[in-house]
Amino acid sequence: MRRKLVVGNWKMNGSRAANATLLAGVVAGLDGARADCAVCVPSPYLAQCQEALAGSAVAWGAQDVSDKPCGAYTGEVCASMLTDFGCRYVIVGHSERRAYHAESSDLVARKALAVLDAGMTPIVCVGETLAEREAGSTVAVVSRQLGAVLDMLAPARVAQIVVAYEPVWAIGTGKTATPAMAQEVHAQLRAQIAAKDAAAGASVQILYGGSMKPDNAAELMAQPDIDGGLIGGAALKAGDFLAIIHAAP
Ligand code: PEP
Repeated sequence: MRRKLVVGNWKMNGSRAANATLLAGVVAGLDGARADCAVCVPSPYLAQCQEALAGSAVAWGAQDVSDKPCGAYTGEVCASMLTDFGCRYVIVGHSERRAYHAESSDLVARKALAVLDAGMTPIVCVGETLAEREAGSTVAVVSRQLGAVLDMLAPARVAQIVVAYEPVWAIGTGKTATPAMAQEVHAQLRAQIAAKDAAAGASVQILYGGSMKPDNAAELMAQPDIDGGLIGGAALKAGDFLAIIHAAP
């Protein structure tokens, strides 16, 4: 069985004081957890994570990265800066980046490549809007988004990515895909990965994201192709985040 992975996406939330309490709470409650876990935090707090989490079972990472190497790109953060702070994961292509920063799937793919080249793991987000789901184009949309990344990777590197299926209509809304709905999309994504590299199809972790909470996490993560969660709101409370981590089978 693939190991489960639960990743907190703090989005643009946090303060040094609040982070210290949250991180200490998560570390203190991990005993007995079967899943791996990580937090993806705003870049200014990466140093704090490195200090608080080094040597613990909690990995950390960033929520975005430039596709460019260091240089004259004011306001951007490049992948080597993230490795400098011990990041293991970088979220790329979150729907909020796609929607508010007009990130194309092609740019997301270049970001994923930059993350891999720096020795970290990209968490590649894909997901359909409500209008796309209602139009029956969910699979076409997520396949196109994932395909852009797969097209840019040599087959041997495909196994190094993590994928997160996040229906846009479920993010931060309290609406969750049913386990069956999510499983159907995850199975499609896995088949698409397997078509590129069979071994990667079997091993790549595909996380579900979209209002995953303590009360629905176990059922979602019990699905054969749901390998964990990407958690927004519930990752900001240590108790809720831990309950989701402990819900992993
Ligand atoms: C997310 O931010 O990736 C997310 C899934 O948010 P939420 O859990 O709040 O829906």
